[in-house]
Amino acid sequence: MLDNYHLNQLAEPLLAWFVDHARVLPWRERPEPYRVWVSEIMLQQTRVEAVKPYYERFLKALPDVAALAACPEDQLMKLWEGLGYYNRVRNMQKAAVTVTEEYDGVLPADYGKLLELKGIGSYTAGAIASIAYGIPVPAVDGNVLRILTRVAADDTDIMKQSFRSAVEAQLGEMMRELTVPEELRRVLRDENVPGALNQAMMELGATVCVPNGAPLCEQCPLASLCEARRAGTALELPHKAAPKARRIEPVTVVLAEDAEGRFLLQQRPEKGLLAGLWQPLLWEGEALSAEEVCARLEALGLACEGIEPLPAAKHIFSHIEWRMSGYSVCVGSAEAPAGCVWASREQLQNEYTLPGAFKAYKKKLGL
Ligand code: SF4
Repeated sequence: MLDNYHLNQLAEPLLAWFVDHARVLPWRERPEPYRVWVSEIMLQQTRVEAVKPYYERFLKALPDVAALAACPEDQLMKLWEGLGYYNRVRNMQKAAVTVTEEYDGVLPADYGKLLELKGIGSYTAGAIASIAYGIPVPAVDGNVLRILTRVAADDTDIMKQSFRSAVEAQLGEMMRELTVPEELRRVLRDENVPGALNQAMMELGATVCVPNGAPLCEQCPLASLCEARRAGTALELPHKAAPKARRIEPVTVVLAEDAEGRFLLQQRPEKGLLAGLWQPLLWEGEALSAEEVCARLEALGLACEGIEPLPAAKHIFSHIEWRMSGYSVCVGSAEAPAGCVWASREQLQNEYTLPGAFKAYKKKLGL
């Protein structure tokens, strides 16, 4: 990696570039701790443009930590619907309860205490501490690792936790000791150097030293310092060891509709994949035939009055890939089996949150 001397050299051109090139983003307008937190959690899984409407809607419904802590689970899931990774918002709520009880509803201005909160790792703690409070701590994510390994032409595997920790330690030391010229400091928002430096890295990684395709080196403020650019190896970096192959799992999805046009939903277990979320009736690990589906439904007390196959679909989770075969089944009138509910189309729209894994079947459900 870069030594401290070279790391120091990055700071000034990066900050000066950020002053001129920072995009106007809703969470940048008022960088308050809660708003920074929400934006960072949302941005971990989704592109900036896609996050904007979710962010506005979330902040309008839950404008502060206390509102998040008190939000009913169904409403919270609905506000997060479309962003995926529902555990992240569940963890945010647990952290919000802690912040309400222990810190009077204000996220602590302390990196170590932020790290103790549920769902807040070193990146998010660094982002909140630096952007909202001006504390000199780094926020190291894929963008930062990409930029730094390119500038240093370092081919260490960036998936190694030991490498990430070493980068955090080095950047942290650099930030604590960094001095920037007064005229540059004055043009930064709130004269917040750590916040601007972390955001400058995020911005450069998102718009110039991009993850997909060729980096725009001719527009880069670090071009004259960048070893990978000099060596023509930018596209080969960062180095990432190949991830483990995903497990392929067959899944049978059944849209069971009763005589009143309601659909049967079942709630997933409290732990594991898509924990606690609602889904159509389904069987994991099995690609069932129409006859087998009818037999399973009958065992649940549901008559199979008509069955039609639906198009196959797939959904990729981090470690598993679902290969889904689907059926639409009319089941007449019946009690909902244990763990299931009948949901009208209106309830599906307003009350229940169906994960994105079922995107291919949402139209059929009127969503
Ligand atoms: Fe990335 Fe190119 Fe800038 Fe190097 S010069 S940091 S490769 S954009």
